[in-house]
Amino acid sequence: RRRLQTARAAVDRVAALPRGERSAEEVEHAINNMFAVYDRLQALTSVQISDLVAADREAAIPAMQGQILIDLREHGGRLASNVMAPLAVPGAWREPQVRAAQQTEGRLLELWRLAASHESVFRSEPALSLHWDMARRQFFGQSLPMVEKLIDDGRRGVPPPWTAAEFTARYVPTLQSLEALRDGYLGVSIARFEHTRNKEAVRLAVLAATVLGTVLLLALALRIAHVQILRPLLQAQAQVIQIASDTPGAEQHATHPMAEMQRLFDAIEVLRAKSHQRSALTRELRELADTDQLTGLLNRRSLEERVRQRRAEGSTQAVVILLDVDHFKAINDGQGHAAGDDVLVQVAQLLRSHLRRNDSIARYGGEEFLVLLADGDLASGRRLAESLRVALRAQDIVLGSRDILRVTASFGVAQGALDPIGWHALVRAADAAMYEAKALGRDRVQVATAGRAAR
Ligand code: GH3
Ligand code: MG
Ligand code: MG
Repeated sequence: RRRLQTARAAVDRVAALPRGERSAEEVEHAINNMFAVYDRLQALTSVQISDLVAADREAAIPAMQGQILIDLREHGGRLASNVMAPLAVPGAWREPQVRAAQQTEGRLLELWRLAASHESVFRSEPALSLHWDMARRQFFGQSLPMVEKLIDDGRRGVPPPWTAAEFTARYVPTLQSLEALRDGYLGVSIARFEHTRNKEAVRLAVLAATVLGTVLLLALALRIAHVQILRPLLQAQAQVIQIASDTPGAEQHATHPMAEMQRLFDAIEVLRAKSHQRSALTRELRELADTDQLTGLLNRRSLEERVRQRRAEGSTQAVVILLDVDHFKAINDGQGHAAGDDVLVQVAQLLRSHLRRNDSIARYGGEEFLVLLADGDLASGRRLAESLRVALRAQDIVLGSRDILRVTASFGVAQGALDPIGWHALVRAADAAMYEAKALGRDRVQVATAGRAAR
């Protein structure tokens, strides 16, 4: 733009001079400056077209074609300028001017040939086709021959038939046919590009919307999968693990929108109910296994378990009382086996009522009972045995037959270590003391001597 302003200023300067004061050199110089600006601009355009060719060969074709048409119009203008200087200054037709005009004309014909090699492009649009024909008829059919005649006359020294103004009046309208062709072609090309761009923009928008929709749909599906499948499955897993580790927890009335999930959770509830049932059964079985059926006391197996527990809790010493009902066989023989059972049950009740919560009491044999005292020493064991003995012999035992009888028992008391070997020695010592009591006449308490207990 700056160069154009400078060149234009030079032209204006020459134009401002009275006609007689203008030199042909000055006029030519001003015109050449204008041409230089155009050539400079064209270099820039060429670079842009090369970039376009590299990026998109298809899109570059209209640009190249457009440039040919722009060039055509430009050289049409230049030809007028070539002719205008010698016309304006009489006698100015010399060899360089002739050569310049002929060069421009040659360039024009070459450009026209180049454009014509793609004539079909112009024929595809009726308006363009019209411009094409006008340019050929008016510019190439009338103006070029007119310029040729001027050059010819100029070379031969014949005065030109037209003044500069007359020439301009004839020449310029034909130049407009080139302009119309150029503008028409550029207009059509731009419109086509815009159409393509709009179509692509719509396609891009549709594609973007589709992608966005798909992404949203996927996100929604993921969320649904998480809420309706993953989370319930994790809950189900936690519940199954709970049930499997025998802590089934309370019944849950979960509802799920998915039928399959609902079935899964229903199945888990069935499992939970079964687990509760199994736990109850296990408890029952354990109790059965731990207690003597007739008396409800501990049996021998669970007494051993208590001993192990005491050991685990850190106890090292214990006091035990072993007692055996006297002449029990005689009751069985005399009153019947059921009466014997009645006796055993009521002896057990009496023992239980006289012992503390933490004392353990077991049916150790047929009519033999063993008491493992929670604490205390041999003396307190003996006192407890004595009070049991007295209470038992004073207790009325009511048989099923309403008969009442009384029984006595012989007691052995011992103290010793709780470790596995010590425990067996302890029971043996209590047993020995109890047999001593039997031997000494029954219904008495005998304490194991230290020597025996230690054995
Ligand atoms: P002692 O004073 O020497 O202990 O004499 P005893 O008759 O009590 O002793 P013995 O060992 O001769 O008899 C015990 C009887 O206890 C033998 C057995 O039939 C009976 N017996 C064992 N278990 C039960 C039971 O559960 N119910 C009944 N009714 N009798 C039982
Ligand atoms: Mg016995
Ligand atoms: Mg007995």
